Amino acid sequence: MKTKIRILPENLCNKIAAGEVVERPASVVKELLENSLDAGATEIRVEVEQGGKKLIRVMDDGEGMGRDDAFLCLERHATSKIRSDEDLFRLQTLGFRGEALPSIAAVSRFMLRSRTEDSLEGWEIYAEGGTVKRAGAVGCSSGTIIEVRDLFFNTPARRKFLRRDETEMGHVGDVITKLALAHPEVQFRLIHSGRSLIDVYRHTALPERVGALLGRPLLQDLVPVAVEGPDELVLQGLLAQPAASRSTSASVYTFINGRYIRDRVVQHALMEGYRNLLEKGRYPVAILFLSIDPALVDVNVHPTKHEVRFRDQRRVHDFISAAVRETLRPSAWLSRQNQPCGNSTIPVSESNAKEAPPFQPAVPGTAQEHLRRVQESLANYARTHPEGSGPAVPLAFPRAEESGTMPREVERGFFSELKILGQYRRSFILAQDGDDLVLIDQHAAHERIGFERLRDQFRQGRVDRQALLFPAVLEFDFRESALLKEHLEEFGRLGFDLEPFGGNAFALKAVPRLLGDAEAERLVRDVVGEIALVGKSGLVEDALDEVFAVMACHSVIRANQSLSQPQIEALLRDMDRVDFKAHCPHGRPVMKRLSLNEVERMFKRT
Ligand code: ADP
Ligand code: MG
Repeated sequence: MKTKIRILPENLCNKIAAGEVVERPASVVKELLENSLDAGATEIRVEVEQGGKKLIRVMDDGEGMGRDDAFLCLERHATSKIRSDEDLFRLQTLGFRGEALPSIAAVSRFMLRSRTEDSLEGWEIYAEGGTVKRAGAVGCSSGTIIEVRDLFFNTPARRKFLRRDETEMGHVGDVITKLALAHPEVQFRLIHSGRSLIDVYRHTALPERVGALLGRPLLQDLVPVAVEGPDELVLQGLLAQPAASRSTSASVYTFINGRYIRDRVVQHALMEGYRNLLEKGRYPVAILFLSIDPALVDVNVHPTKHEVRFRDQRRVHDFISAAVRETLRPSAWLSRQNQPCGNSTIPVSESNAKEAPPFQPAVPGTAQEHLRRVQESLANYARTHPEGSGPAVPLAFPRAEESGTMPREVERGFFSELKILGQYRRSFILAQDGDDLVLIDQHAAHERIGFERLRDQFRQGRVDRQALLFPAVLEFDFRESALLKEHLEEFGRLGFDLEPFGGNAFALKAVPRLLGDAEAERLVRDVVGEIALVGKSGLVEDALDEVFAVMACHSVIRANQSLSQPQIEALLRDMDRVDFKAHCPHGRPVMKRLSLNEVERMFKRT
């Protein structure tokens, strides 16, 4: 009997797969570069014409392919990277599906030339729309060259979706940037119609590579991260201090085991780490490498592999957010510099720094080593790029040159040691730090202090309370009251004295002293609402941060209030005692700095 079901011809399968894998020139570049990296290349050159629509040529000095492999690589599901099921859960390579080359070849005019180091001649294969037209031995240097011409020439519907050359080039540049950030040991060059767009040398330390790819001025705002967690979890890289925030998340680069990943869990954890430091709708600049046991993460969930699945999502999330938060604390950053293994109190000579080994994001267990190297390069950068060549020194962090040698007390005294110039419009404190003019928003500053105090008191389990003269009876719906009952103890620790009052009602008998009684009722409702939103008990502490922010809003010092010299001094002293100084709990800036240079430029005196 005749069947209606047929096995699809190989070539059609490849075209279908191409629909998933090859969306635009940038996806071709990504696949080819990943192959070059997997082949151990140390130098990769990408040449592109017409945004990749006309030509994409990738050349590498990797291990190359012998004759048989050169033919095999165009077969579907042909890969040298995994052999068994288990390999799939211990991936060390960027590729593993064996789909990229046949898919790309199916929708282009494709040329491959490759030679292994130990063979005398190389092999060249030419295919059109996935059909091999010519093949033969050629003389060539060892490594691989792949040319992809006239992408989608045989699938016009897809070709129509391609954008202007510049747009496609933007995507290509983006792909190379991400791969180049993760592989400082490899040289990358990108040439568009004869113009060199990216050129980064091998063996650069991470900060240098970040400077070359994302812009030099950014380096002044970066703080190195290197934190080791349980189960061989390691987080390293660079984080920008909050003042260098962006309006989109495009400058967040996250990598898992050396692979660029845009994962929801990781992104959320990063934002958690910045909680209360960024204004609403702002995103940090971050280049973060997470190393994790490959058995604990599944990268095989999505064809373009930008998402992963963690065995223990919560654990990874909490590790990242804690590591970020810890890194952004100026005091932690300072004390870490003073650890003997950091070695950073010894000034690094230029020659020393140049000899420093390259940054290896994927190797766990070297977090301190990494931290030392990154600090060296940052310090080096600060020396070779004197002040005025970029944005002002980070607000909340000690200067790079000072931090290595400064004892902790000095860091505490940053604000108290400012020279007070006066008050402006009864709202701002004017002060001087060296040659810089410093402006402080007194209300935002006080709010920040109140926030930190409340949180401190809360953590130490003794929030000062004030009993209400007339207890208020508050009614809730059943879901809220259930939540309230569940978290009654936490409310107690927050300084609220709440007692069940029958049904869904509660009597409010005391409130935190710092707050006063006016807003107590609304606050309790807001907190309950907040907890209802997040649902999980594990998030309660985060929700409490919101509460502290609301509470701190009722701080004593407001805008439009004149302050005496002793009051200003007291405020500055208090500012030195809290950890974050750059923003109020709502994310508004607390302090701004104008360098002499900037002031002079305002008056055209330079
Ligand atoms: P995958 O990368 O998933 O294995 P590909 O279709 O991208 O699948 O490549 C198929 C195989 O071709 C790879 O497994 C590798 O052995 C070989 N290969 C591809 N590109 C290169 C290259 N630039 N250098 C050396 N070998 C390569
Ligand atoms: Mg591949």
